[in-house]
Amino acid sequence: MAVLEVLHYPDLGLRKKAVPIETVDESCLILAKDMLQTMYEYNGIGLASTQVNVHKRLVVIDLSEDKNEAIYLINPEILSSEGTKESQEGCLSLPEYYDTVIRAERITYRFQDLEGKVIKSEADGLLSVCIQHEIDHLDGKLFIDYLSPMKRRRLRKKLEKQEKQEKQEKHQAKIL
Ligand code: ZN
Repeated sequence: MAVLEVLHYPDLGLRKKAVPIETVDESCLILAKDMLQTMYEYNGIGLASTQVNVHKRLVVIDLSEDKNEAIYLINPEILSSEGTKESQEGCLSLPEYYDTVIRAERITYRFQDLEGKVIKSEADGLLSVCIQHEIDHLDGKLFIDYLSPMKRRRLRKKLEKQEKQEKQEKHQAKIL
């Protein structure tokens, strides 16, 4: 298993739409395990392949405290949704930024497991939110896309400032 590099906003790789996985083969299993390890490494509860710059429809999720209840979703899709709920979200591709977005409360979804078997299931609560967030990634969408333009502008400015600071710090490190 390996820890993969996670793309950070505004990397354009995050905007690519992932394609369906046609056969669940060895490479798919390796990717799934590497993604899981990457997610654990950065203390995330969900990770979409798009975030590691692989554009195949694969998601890993683990909502457990002990990081031992991994869920693998191949080609996940939402079939229907019901209700709305406010959700406080963060994202491994947007470190240290959190905000509230409106999500569907309950979803019916379909996916394939690591054996390629098609499974239909229902989710509410955190799992429902997480699946919606990760499927958005596969479609090139980020949770900040739901925020007001003013909030997004503010966020971009903050990130640009951070980047400048980091560059300066690196520069200073070279002098020393
Ligand atoms: Zn995310």
